[in-house]
Amino acid sequence: MNNDSPDTSQFEAIRARLTLQLHQVERDFPPADLPATLVRNQMRHARAKAALDRLDAGSFGRCCQCREYIEPEVLHFDPSAPFCLDCQAEADLRQRRT
Ligand SMILES: [Zn+2]
Repeated sequence: MNNDSPDTSQFEAIRARLTLQLHQVERDFPPADLPATLVRNQMRHARAKAALDRLDAGSFGRCCQCREYIEPEVLHFDPSAPFCLDCQAEADLRQRRT
């Protein structure tokens, strides 16, 4: 049992940490006006549009990162995939870290 009253001199630092945490969560999970499905759909739309642009530009099938050819099975699974397997794995890692 802890009967000590909270150390009020720490409150400003704690408030700052909680505010930061709140902002981080809001950034990762946008509030209700942007449902996750809408965000996903916008991303899918943007990916598809970019892939169509690459088709027109003649660069379709090349990785947008390393410019190597994207593995055929990747494009078969998702024609809008912008990256080869290696670069996609790197991008996933980066996204998880942020
Ligand atoms: Zn690549």
